[in-house]
Amino acid sequence: SKSDGTHDQYQTCFSPWLAQGCLSPKTIFQELKKVEAERGADKSTRELFHDLVYRDFLRFMGKKYGNKIFQPGGILNQPPDPGSADKEAFNAWISGQTGCPIVDASMRELNETGFPGNRNRQIAASFLIHDLGVNWTWGAQYFESCLIDYDPCSNWVNWGLIAGVADDHTGDHKLNVAAQSRKLDPNGDYIRQWLPELRHLSDDQIHEPYLPPQKKAGGLSALNF
Ligand SMILES: Cc1cc2nc3c(=O)[nH]c(=O)nc-3n(C[C@H](O)[C@H](O)[C@H](O)COP(=O)(O)OP(=O)(O)OC[C@H]3O[C@@H](n4cnc5c(N)ncnc54)[C@H](O)[C@@H]3O)c2cc1C
Repeated sequence: SKSDGTHDQYQTCFSPWLAQGCLSPKTIFQELKKVEAERGADKSTRELFHDLVYRDFLRFMGKKYGNKIFQPGGILNQPPDPGSADKEAFNAWISGQTGCPIVDASMRELNETGFPGNRNRQIAASFLIHDLGVNWTWGAQYFESCLIDYDPCSNWVNWGLIAGVADDHTGDHKLNVAAQSRKLDPNGDYIRQWLPELRHLSDDQIHEPYLPPQKKAGGLSALNF
């Protein structure tokens, strides 16, 4: 079954092996079926099936739309906003120096290990696109150069979905990064691991150190980039 990860709640760490073709999703499927026959299905086996099906879905998107998944207009071919070419903001994001702790921790983990968790990837991508306003294809290319589980469909379609240029029509793709930070890392342990300069801050302050101590989480409106 899936084991606890250090940042996402559950992580199998299968993706680098799947991406390199060393492990087949069919093998995992058959093993899961055996486990379920012996012990019964549970939340963890069902989640893994779902994740593998989602991976397949992204591969089918790649097969259906071809090179469109790499283009700024994406699958929809009508970019709501191609994003700016702000190299300074992009470089701050790359080096984990934006001032937003959960984003900086996720980017430093990416740079060091090539393997941040799924939620960290979503947070970092949403922040680059929707808070810094940078062209999403720059972020996707940077992830491509760093991820140890890099897979063209999983990377580019996930980025396109967060940028709002893929085929999901769900409307708002911007994450509330401060709220996500509190949910993913309630005690701030993950942030402290990657941002030693913030270790002295309280569990509450560490998520939004730019706010006065008495103020509660309210998004990034008080953040001055
Ligand atoms: C912006 C962004 C870029 C990404 N780029 C990649 C990439 O290049 N390669 C890659 O394999 N995954 C990518 N993902 C998906 C996901 O982050 C990783 O598959 C997951 O973190 C790998 O860890 P794991 O094997 O422990 O996953 P688990 O949570 O244990 O899931 C099991 C398997 O299901 C599949 N899976 C789970 N979630 C997703 C998902 N959201 N999208 C696609 N497949 C999923 C993976 O094959 C994974 O190994 C990306 C996600 C985002 C948001």
